[in-house]
Amino acid sequence: MHPLAKLDHQFVWHPFTQMRDWLRDEPIVISEGQGAVLRDVKGREYLDANSSIWTNLHGHQHPKINAAVRGQLNKISHSSALGFANEPASLLAGKLVGVANSKLAKVFYSDDGSTALEVAVKLAYEFTRRTRCNTVGRASARAVSPRLLALDGAYHGDTIGAVSLGHIDLFHKAYAGLLFKTDKVMSPYCYRCPFNRAKPERDDARNYRKCRWECVSRVEQKLSAQTKKGNPYAAFVFEPLMQGAAGMIPQPGGWLRQVTDIARSHGALLVADEVMTGFGRTNSKLSAAASRSSLFACQQELVQPDFLCLAKGLTGGYLPMAATLTTQKVFDAFLGGYEELKTFFHGHSYTGNQLGAAAALASLDILQSKSSVSQRVRLQKQMQDELQTLWVLPHIGDIRQVGLVAGIELVKNWRTREPFALRERAGIRVCAAMSRRGVLTRPAGNVIVLMPPYCTTKTQMQKIASALREAVAEVF
Ligand SMILES: *Cc1c(COP(=O)(O)O)cnc(C)c1O
Repeated sequence: MHPLAKLDHQFVWHPFTQMRDWLRDEPIVISEGQGAVLRDVKGREYLDANSSIWTNLHGHQHPKINAAVRGQLNKISHSSALGFANEPASLLAGKLVGVANSKLAKVFYSDDGSTALEVAVKLAYEFTRRTRCNTVGRASARAVSPRLLALDGAYHGDTIGAVSLGHIDLFHKAYAGLLFKTDKVMSPYCYRCPFNRAKPERDDARNYRKCRWECVSRVEQKLSAQTKKGNPYAAFVFEPLMQGAAGMIPQPGGWLRQVTDIARSHGALLVADEVMTGFGRTNSKLSAAASRSSLFACQQELVQPDFLCLAKGLTGGYLPMAATLTTQKVFDAFLGGYEELKTFFHGHSYTGNQLGAAAALASLDILQSKSSVSQRVRLQKQMQDELQTLWVLPHIGDIRQVGLVAGIELVKNWRTREPFALRERAGIRVCAAMSRRGVLTRPAGNVIVLMPPYCTTKTQMQKIASALREAVAEVF
């Protein structure tokens, strides 16, 4: 075993990993990356088919981001946002508000997707409490305890506020006693929707579904019921266009627009978690103009959120940094005399980090360049073509692509949609077989995730698809 692998086995505890399984095999130790390729300490090469857990956008060692980080290193790496402003964080905030192109006006920085959601949740909660206290008067102010609504199957991170919004039992159930109360409502999962009366076909389930938008009615009912109780939901939290960790579950066109309109009519603030979907990842329109004008999933359904949570791709996959964008109205509710204690008492040591902000600025420049836009349009089409070749496999039940993300759901029998049991570890086994073929990704349950960096070439995309095809054939 390589000495670094040995050290890892001896000392490192990995995230979301059954360590007993981990300790059975020698781990791949990554030492270098270039474009869409990762290299390990033994000199083996792999394609980074999930963009290093959804973070990387333009490939590894992008010359422009490398130069931006180096340039910043020669000035300063970090100074505190508590009491001081800094150059790249100021520039980045202006730029983010510009590309969000909505009523979002203020940027609160943090470090990860979880913390971006934590900030949104605390702000939405406190904003609602304050505005409701003002209307109901001081006496009943103490009784005001706003509730939040999130989607079934949601994953918004691992800190306690973010976990409270999560509805994946496997991750979240154990901590139920620690959490604040949120409710969940049906999310559209056309492939496994109880209201979808269509027989399985060899196509994305959204294209052949037969329903009456019962999923939208469910959201309507949930919001109405809470409003009738006299304590309407403070916020509706959602991943726009596609739920990631839930299993790459895409929303049929129009769903987001309908449910956010309903949520708004009940006075709920809209919290869009674009930690996975943002930065050009989910633009499903195959035109350069559309790709340039909307970097975020919300924009495609003309939804204007009150909070936009960004992380993963923000720095192009270089450094941990997150941003929660919000409106002037929310910001204003926290203004007051020092002694009024209206301040938002929240923040982290590395808030507004210069290296991260410099990387993010360079990444946004690349994203908006003509060449990146045409690259994304090209790759999306190639991905679509390659994914079509997978339908011949009987163990593939659904293939759902949104922009440059795809979820491929493995099933025991495509005619009945019968799923694999958890203990069969179908997704894990297929990904292991792909890894032996030089393609790295991680499953979400029985769903294989493909999310290549935007610089992935046609040949590399073909290799990813053929590795998946061979792996499925080998495992089943
Ligand atoms: C990954 C993810 C998070 C959590 O982000 P971390 O950086 O891992 O804390 C939150 N929301 C979504 C949609 C994510 O994909």
